[in-house]
Amino acid sequence: MHQVDVIVLGAGIVGVSTAVHLRQRGLSVALIDRRHPGEEASHGNAGLIGRNGFCPISLPKRGADLLDIALKQSTAIHCDYGALLRAVPWLRRYLRGNGHQAIQRYARVMDRFRELAVKEHYHLAAKANADRFYRKSGWLQVYRSEASYRADERERHYARIFGIDYRELSGGDLNTVEPGLKAENLTGVFWPESESVSNPAAVVEAFWRYFIQEDGLFLNGDAFALEQRRLGWRISTARKSVAGRQVVVALGSWTAAFAERFREYYPMVITRGYNGHFRPRSGGSLSRPVMDVDHGYMLAPMEGGIRLTTGFEIADRDSPANPIQLDRAKARAAAIFPLGSPVPGEPWMGTRGHLPDSLPVVGASPSRPGLWYNFGHGPHGFALGPLTARILADLIVDRDPGVDMAAISPLRYLA
Ligand SMILES: Cc1cc2nc3c(=O)[nH]c(=O)nc-3n(C[C@H](O)[C@H](O)[C@H](O)COP(=O)(O)OP(=O)(O)OC[C@H]3O[C@@H](n4cnc5c(N)ncnc54)[C@H](O)[C@@H]3O)c2cc1C
Repeated sequence: MHQVDVIVLGAGIVGVSTAVHLRQRGLSVALIDRRHPGEEASHGNAGLIGRNGFCPISLPKRGADLLDIALKQSTAIHCDYGALLRAVPWLRRYLRGNGHQAIQRYARVMDRFRELAVKEHYHLAAKANADRFYRKSGWLQVYRSEASYRADERERHYARIFGIDYRELSGGDLNTVEPGLKAENLTGVFWPESESVSNPAAVVEAFWRYFIQEDGLFLNGDAFALEQRRLGWRISTARKSVAGRQVVVALGSWTAAFAERFREYYPMVITRGYNGHFRPRSGGSLSRPVMDVDHGYMLAPMEGGIRLTTGFEIADRDSPANPIQLDRAKARAAAIFPLGSPVPGEPWMGTRGHLPDSLPVVGASPSRPGLWYNFGHGPHGFALGPLTARILADLIVDRDPGVDMAAISPLRYLA
C-alpha cells in the first residue's frame, strides 16, 4: 500500500494542474486516470484563454435560430430530442438563475477569474517549460449579421466596465488583423488581451511531465475503484494500491455521475463537441482563434493545422459520434476562410460538463470529510483549469485563495 497525502482522480488540464499545485505545496500526490493524461476534453479544444467571456452561455432567442435547432439544421447547436428532453430540468434551472443580477455577478466573478487565469497558465508554463505553446495574439469574433453583432452587446458593455480593451473592425480593417479572412461582409471584434495555445494536449503533457519530475506518482486506474476508509481513502490500480487522507475529484464531465455514489447530486448537462484539422490553402493563414459567432464554431491555428472546433451537441455522452456539425461548420467556414484539404484522421469528439450557473464547482464535499471537487468548467476549462487548481490547492492547505468562493462552492448545489 502506497501512502500519499492526496489522491487526484482525473488527469485532464484540471486534475494535472491540481496535482502540480499540491506538489508545490509540499504534499505527496497520486494522480489517477484510466487513460494517458490530457486525452479527453483537454486534448482537442480550441486552446483559447480569453480575457473576456463575461456572460454565461446564452440560449438562442431568435425564432429562426430556434426553428433551425428544432429541425436539426443548426450548425451551432445540434440536439438529440431524447437527450434534450432529459435536459429540461437543467434548462429550467438555467433559466431561473439567469436574471439580470445573476448575470452581473457572473460577470464580476469571471472578470477576476479571467484576469488570474492568464497568470496561472504562465506560472505553470514557466515551471513546465511550456511557454513555447503560448501566443499573446488575442482572438477574434466575427459576425455575419447586424442582429448577431447586436446580440453580443452585453459582452462589450462589461468589457467597457472592467476596462478590457476591444476593437470593432470591419472589412479591410479586419484584414489588417487577420489577412487570411475573407472579410468583405463581416464585422469583427478583436480582443487583444487574450491568449491562446498552439497545442492544448502538449500543454497538459508538459504540466504532467513536470509533475512526474517533481516526484508525483501517476497511475492508470478506474476512479470508481475508490473506497472510503475510516481514516481516509483508498484506491486499487493494476500497478499499486494507494491510500490518501484526501481525494480530489477532477473527472471533467464524468464527475457528476461519480458524485452520485456519495448521494451528492449536481445538476450537470453534458455537451459534445468535435474537431477536425485542415491545411490552409495557399495565401491563407491565421494567427489567432477566430469564432464565427453566427454559426458557433471556431477556427484555431494549431501545430497540426487549422483546427475547426464545433459548437454544442446535446446528446448522450456514449451514443455514437455524429459529426454533422463538423461537416456543416466546414461548409460555413469556407465562406470566410480558404480552408484547404483535411488533415487525415477521424474527427475528434470531446465532452464538456455544464452547471446551470455556468461556473465550476471547486471546494469540499459537504458530506464526506477529505473529499474535494474541481469540475464543471463547461466551455472554459482549458482557460480556467490552472486557476481553479491553484484555488483548490490553497483550500486544501488551508490558505486563503483570494477569490469569491461562494460563487464556485459545492454548497450552492448541495446545501
Ligand atoms: C470542442 C471543444 C472546444 C473547446 N474549446 C475551449 C477553449 O478554447 N478554451 C477553453 O478554456 N475551454 C475549451 N473547451 C472546454 C475545455 O476543453 C474543458 O472545459 C476542459 O478540458 C475540461 O478539463 P477537465 O480536466 O475538467 O476534463 P477532461 O479533460 O475531460 O479530463 C477528465 C479526465 O478524467 C478521466 N476520467 C473520466 N472518468 C474516469 C474514470 N472512471 N476513471 C479514471 N479516469 C477517468 C478522463 O480520462 C480524463 O482524462 C472546449 C471543449 C470542447 C469539447
